Order: sequence, then C-alpha cells, then structure tokens
Amino acid sequence: LMQLSIPLNFIGFVYREIRQGLTDIEQMFELLDVEPEVRDAPHAKPLVVGQGAIRFEDVNFSYDPARPILRGVSFEVPAGKTVAIVGPSGAGKSTISRLLYRFYDIQSGNIAIDGQNVRDVTQQSLRAAIGMVPQDTVLFNDTIAYNIRYGRIDASEEEVSRAADLAQIGDFIRRLPDGFKSMVGERGLKLSGGEKQRVAIARTILKAPPILILDEATSALDTATEQEIQAALDFVSKGRTTLVIAHRLSTVVSADEIIVLKDGQIAERGRHAELLAQKGLYASMWDRQREATEAEEQLKRMREND
Ligand code: ATP
Repeated sequence: LMQLSIPLNFIGFVYREIRQGLTDIEQMFELLDVEPEVRDAPHAKPLVVGQGAIRFEDVNFSYDPARPILRGVSFEVPAGKTVAIVGPSGAGKSTISRLLYRFYDIQSGNIAIDGQNVRDVTQQSLRAAIGMVPQDTVLFNDTIAYNIRYGRIDASEEEVSRAADLAQIGDFIRRLPDGFKSMVGERGLKLSGGEKQRVAIARTILKAPPILILDEATSALDTATEQEIQAALDFVSKGRTTLVIAHRLSTVVSADEIIVLKDGQIAERGRHAELLAQKGLYASMWDRQREATEAEEQLKRMREND
C-alpha cells in the first residue's frame, strides 16, 4: 500500500500544480481580457516610449456594428500629466482604456503613443509600457507576495515589501498571521475591494510603467480607505502619463484635464473649477455625488452613536 500511496500522492501533487497553473492562466486571460481577434501587424515594431504622450484623434468605435459606443472622441494626455474621464454609467469610459491597451481595434480615427499608432506596434511592447490598475483585481491563488511580485517577477523581497508600503498595504500584510506568505485568492484570504486595489497598485509600482491607466472602483469606500488609496494612487501616478477612469469625483479635482463623456461623445472638458462654473453635466454630477457622500457620512455617524 505504501508503494502505491507515494505515486498517488505525487500524482495528487502534480494534479494540484497543473490545476493551479490552469487557474492562473485562466485568471490571467480574464485579467487581460484577451481578445483573440487583435493581432500584431505583419511588420509590427516594438513601441518606443519617449515621454509617453497619449493621443486619441477622432476615434469611432463599436463592439457591435449596430451600436456605436464612441463617436468622434479626441483628446490628449500630455507626457506626465493626468487626464480624468468621467460621465454616466455606460458612457464608454472603460472602453477608452481598453482601446488604449488595444484589446479592440477602432473603426476609424487614430490612437497613438508618442506618435506611434497602437495598431503598428507589437502588443507585447504596448502592454509592457502601460500599467493598468483595474476596478476589480483578480488575485492568483497564491501568496500575497506572489501577487505583488507579478508586477515584476525578478523583484526582491525587499522591493516587494517597499512597493506594498508605498501602496499603503504593507502594515496590513505584516499584521496577517503569515505576513507576505499569506495565501490569498479564492482558496485563501478574501481581501476587500480596497485591499485588492492596493495589491494592484503595489504590482504597478514594481512594474513602473511610463503610462498608467487607473480604473477606479465604483463601490463606495469608507473615507479612511479612500484617502489611503488616493495617497497610493498619487504616488504611483507622479510623473507618469495617467488616464483615470474616475467614478469618485474626489479623485478628479486635481486632474490636469477632465473629460466628461456622455453617450460616447465628449460633452464637456476642462479643469474642475471651470467645469463647476459651467453648471452643466459635470456640475450636476458633482452635486449629486456630494449629497450622496454627505448622506452616507450622516448614516455612519448615526450608527456610531447607536
Ligand atoms: P461604467 O461607469 O458603468 O463602468 P462606462 O462608461 O465605463 O460605464 P463602458 O464599460 O465603456 O462604460 O461601456 C460602454 C457601453 O459599451 C455600454 O453600453 C456597454 O454595455 C457596452 N459594452 C461594454 N463592453 C462590451 C463588450 N465587450 N461587448 C459589447 N458591448 C460592450
């Protein structure tokens, strides 16, 4: 029996490893939302990033030909600056980030980084240049250290720990019973949305890409968490060309330009104060969100007093 149980154990081990590997690959595809129809052009060259300026020029796009999603969208994110995209749900905000990553090809117009059309460069080089902090980070069923190191697999333990600190999640991790070796993901510790987002920020800090896409979580975060995440995001976006898909208006106040998207078109654009003064869509979104935040905080105070 002994002789049989060893190989069986071994097979069990191999099976688990393979399954884990498959889960990781599946998650990676989910993470990258890989679209098989996008292919490298026959003579695609690697993207050469100088300053990392982004330019959308008269972009028209639809997932399904019958339903246009983006119509004549033009904007620039100058090197090192931050542009925030805001607008009602379904306006096409996240679509813009997917197009920059070239998950899909556009029907007409141009998307370029430092003057190079994203269609003409290799996808590998394009994606290496862009760091994406998604709304919902998928964690691998592995240690938290592994999940952070995924940003740059040759990072040392010290670098992983420093990135965690800069992402405002280091202390939280050190307080866990197994610290950085704690298992996370479906079969491990369940992290909150805000914690997962900070893991994603730590990953991105290790990757140190010249261009950054931040897709903020829609879910409400408490004020302390929001401030921690904001501090982490400010750190990671400093000096990097940053496109923020903003759901919480508090993060857009300091953006160099705010683009208000509505039904796939740019409805308003400018800085925070200018847009408030226009008393248009942005101003009304701002009012509504402020009211919602105030109501939430009042509710919290009431609960605390109970
Ligand atoms: P939210 O604030 O709710 O995240 P959004 O402005 O980011 O919204 P997008 O995710 O860009 O909106 O979606 C824009 C429109 O495109 C939506 O109407 C959506 O239903 C549609 N859409 C998004 N992804 C796909 C897809 N893969 N296939 C077909 N339609 C899609």
